[in-house]
Amino acid sequence: MDAKMLIGSEFVAGSERPEKILAPKTGATILELPEASPPQIDAAVDAAERAFAAWSRTTPAERSGYLLKLADRIEAEAADFARLEALNCGKPYGAVLRDEIPAIVDVLRFFAGAARVQTGSAAGEYLPGHTSMIRRDPIGVVASIAPWNYPLMMAAWKIGPALAAGNTVVLKPSEQTPLTTLKLARIAAEIFPAGVLNVVLGRGESVGNALIHHPKVSMISLTGDIATGKKVLAAAAKSVKRTHLELGGKAPVIVYDDADLSAVIEGLKTFGYYNAGQDCTAACRIYAGPKIYDNLVADLTAAVGTIGYGHEDDEQNHIGPLISERQRGRVASFVERAREASHIEITAGGRPASGSGFFFEPTVVAGALQSDEIVRREVFGPVVSVTRFSEPEQAVAWANDSEYGLASSVWSSDISRAMETATRLQYGCTWINCHFMLASEMPHGGLKQSGYGKDMSVYALEDYSVVRHVMVRFA
Ligand code: NAD
Repeated sequence: MDAKMLIGSEFVAGSERPEKILAPKTGATILELPEASPPQIDAAVDAAERAFAAWSRTTPAERSGYLLKLADRIEAEAADFARLEALNCGKPYGAVLRDEIPAIVDVLRFFAGAARVQTGSAAGEYLPGHTSMIRRDPIGVVASIAPWNYPLMMAAWKIGPALAAGNTVVLKPSEQTPLTTLKLARIAAEIFPAGVLNVVLGRGESVGNALIHHPKVSMISLTGDIATGKKVLAAAAKSVKRTHLELGGKAPVIVYDDADLSAVIEGLKTFGYYNAGQDCTAACRIYAGPKIYDNLVADLTAAVGTIGYGHEDDEQNHIGPLISERQRGRVASFVERAREASHIEITAGGRPASGSGFFFEPTVVAGALQSDEIVRREVFGPVVSVTRFSEPEQAVAWANDSEYGLASSVWSSDISRAMETATRLQYGCTWINCHFMLASEMPHGGLKQSGYGKDMSVYALEDYSVVRHVMVRFA
């Protein structure tokens, strides 16, 4: 198992306090990894800065070639990556292998292609005798800070556009889930010139904090909590760094009375609980029309009872445990507080599962009101709330009444009505009659406190590059 950080071309162990890396399925310690020291963080940033001089001047075709090689290696070693991710996150192995790894490979291939078709938007004579042109250039050293829910995928979403645009990167995985990123570092060192990608380990308040304040870091990319995003903004303000923030969500799901109920239930069962609900786009906040509400709650409750977890045979598992005991305690306390309200009924699950590991029962919270905490705050666990609305206007107003603005969905057999609703939702993405479908060509990112950085798509390439004007006098 790879356990060393990548600084320039060197593999080095951190020299500071170790972090226990746990297997969430059992709670057992996999290994302990010391975090980077301040001089090691400086060395990683220095290596990235040195590499920037040459990397930023490579042609798009060259950068594309490197990214394609990285994608090929991940694809070739898919089973090993999937095993590591499954071990470190507790996810079902098959879900990582079949869902995550192909998407990771695809997004790297997308950016390999996109790097080659980026164009300046204008060239011409805007003043007599002067030709102006627009360039898109890289920014410099990017500090990329990733969360624990999809460690390798978040790494790919960050390094793909950053490297394609000609930046160099210091990547810090979550202190809880560094294993696939360390394997990625091993492969990257065989492919990229030294210093183009560096990986440092450590906690947010120490290593993360040092990176976001580092004077040689030109851009910070974070996927994480709103509170962490605010710290990034405060740090960035001191030296005016660029920021790219993806900060959680609380996706509303509007189900009109005319929706296809079986499709809704299939969608909610899958995408309300995928990754044990530790997903910022999880279909977790249902607003059901007055006529469909009772059947939706009954059918969802029955369907959620069939979600497989905790089986010895991993192929029977649809979801895994939560990432940590702490996260499980957080989810449990949300559900306990909801249970205290007399209007709420927990119709499925509702408790930590028995046995070892950090499992929590897939849960349905019916009868929730718009003002309830369970409707308003991100739980980040296998917990879906259902709220009855009486008028479509009310559903749209409630859906938008949130500090989050990442993802949403609308379910109706009347496509005009669904489209009209989609135009009024204040979310980075609205799915109609589906949820959680991602495409590398399409942007993923939020509004409001969900942040503003776009992942995937040409918009990510724009976020990780800067527009410049060059003017030539010829007269
Ligand atoms: P987190 O904010 O605690 O941690 C995310 C990363 O930030 C980790 O690497 C952590 O070490 C680092 N960090 C923490 N404090 C820091 C600090 N002071 N300075 C610098 N770095 C710091 O979030 P988490 O608990 O790992 O992840 C879950 C959160 O991420 C959820 O809120 C979830 O919604 C969000 N998320 C958002 C998206 C999205 O696309 N919008 C995707 C995945 C996860």
